[in-house]
Amino acid sequence: MLHMMPMCSGDGAALTVIGGGLAGCEAAWQAACRGLDVLLYEMRPHVSTPAHRTGLLAELVCSNSLGSNLPDRAPGLLKEELRRLRSLIISCADATAVPAGGALAVGREAFSQRVTEAIAAHPRITVRHEEVTELPSREAAIVATGPLTSPALAQEIAALAGEEQLYFYDAMAPIVALESIDQSKVFRASRYDRGEDDYINCPMTREEYDRFVEALLSAETIPLRDFELEDKRFFEACLPIEVLAARGHDALAYGPLKPVGLRDPRTGARPYAVVQLRQDNLAGTLYNLVGFQTNLRWPEQRRVFALIPGLEQAEWVRFGQMHRNTYINSPALLEPTMRWRGRSDLWFAGQIVGTEGYVGSTASGLIAGLNAARSLGGQPEAVLPRTTMIGALMHYVSAFREGPFQPMKASFGLLPELEPPVRNKRQRYAAYAARARRDLDRYISDQRLLDDWAPSDMALG
Ligand SMILES: Cc1cc2nc3c(=O)[nH]c(=O)nc-3n(C[C@H](O)[C@H](O)[C@H](O)COP(=O)(O)OP(=O)(O)OC[C@H]3O[C@@H](n4cnc5c(N)ncnc54)[C@H](O)[C@@H]3O)c2cc1C
Repeated sequence: MLHMMPMCSGDGAALTVIGGGLAGCEAAWQAACRGLDVLLYEMRPHVSTPAHRTGLLAELVCSNSLGSNLPDRAPGLLKEELRRLRSLIISCADATAVPAGGALAVGREAFSQRVTEAIAAHPRITVRHEEVTELPSREAAIVATGPLTSPALAQEIAALAGEEQLYFYDAMAPIVALESIDQSKVFRASRYDRGEDDYINCPMTREEYDRFVEALLSAETIPLRDFELEDKRFFEACLPIEVLAARGHDALAYGPLKPVGLRDPRTGARPYAVVQLRQDNLAGTLYNLVGFQTNLRWPEQRRVFALIPGLEQAEWVRFGQMHRNTYINSPALLEPTMRWRGRSDLWFAGQIVGTEGYVGSTASGLIAGLNAARSLGGQPEAVLPRTTMIGALMHYVSAFREGPFQPMKASFGLLPELEPPVRNKRQRYAAYAARARRDLDRYISDQRLLDDWAPSDMALG
């Protein structure tokens, strides 16, 4: 099949990209197509990870779906923005798509093969199959080694960032959309009235608590693989809620669900237990369940957590999950351009920066590659508008916040409110998407983001 693939020419400064996954391939492509000479390191097949199976670039480690392709869904909008910025990964996914309703799913091998061939055929990219064990100190580089970064390089990154800025285990609590919480059953307050009314509190009676614990203990969990259990230190530190519940019937009531310092204003009494929800994004549209990191299967989370008063009809923006996941505390370390703060020649991209999932990783790869090319070419780096899904994601992972940082997927909750607000959900999503498209096109044109591309035909596959 013949596909229009963007090609480019120019005198190349040199860039090293470490990691030939989704982010690394996208970054290499973006930089090479803007005239940089790229050396791309991928350690497979000589050294593998516990999840990869092949020596191909851009291997999909699990599902073959890249999520919704519908233009008025957040993941679909993210893909559309990437297409406008000439993403290699999305172009290859489109070319190898298999029927999947409104989702973009791909033929797994065909997709990775196509990316591998495109990278190999690019005259400015050289691929070297070697493990990198040290961070480059003199040449410009992008680190895109993913959630299963090899231990030697992870140590190097920890040394650069500080031990406490590198996380090895990901225990994510679920996130709900504020608008889906039944406000008649919850109340806002902070424990002992310290601070503002920062938390949304879901009060439970004894009977409600008993029913919840019973459902939690009988719910089905996802078996963890050996490699996911290999570092017990991190595992113990972020115990799943169901494991804690199994330590005794009232373990949660004395733990994350303790009601101390909280009174339900409608009864004036202290509830038997309280599930607290904490704001998760600056716009205040998303809330996470405090202490609810979990390994329950997703349908089970939907069933069991619907027993929490106020969350009966909750829209789950992200379910809780646990797996090994090497990622950095990006808000303390990265600019929204994905450049390491205080260094002019080092960028990070992919799941390791906390842009979650195949397409989120591709997005930060694209931004890192684009900005490496702009920076080394003497142009200012690009910071996409926060009204775009890519801009909002880059902002989310790089904006300073209190408390621990956790990876994030594309979601409309990350975008600034519409002016004026739109109440109907369908219309609101369509309006978010229309605004994002308009702002991205304007930014591409104002900043001349695509001016240095010289498109030409390229046969692939
Ligand atoms: C078990 C598991 C299941 C997942 N399932 C899904 C899913 O179903 N859907 C989804 O959207 N996301 C899933 N993810 C998240 C997934 O990792 C990302 O979506 C995506 O693969 C991240 O892209 P990346 O480019 O950052 O990392 P990767 O795609 O992992 O690419 C990183 C590359 O760097 C290489 N590398 C590592 N260390 C070195 C080194 N020192 N030197 C040279 N090369 C190195 C690796 O071999 C790898 O090829 C899963 C993650 C894990 C761990």
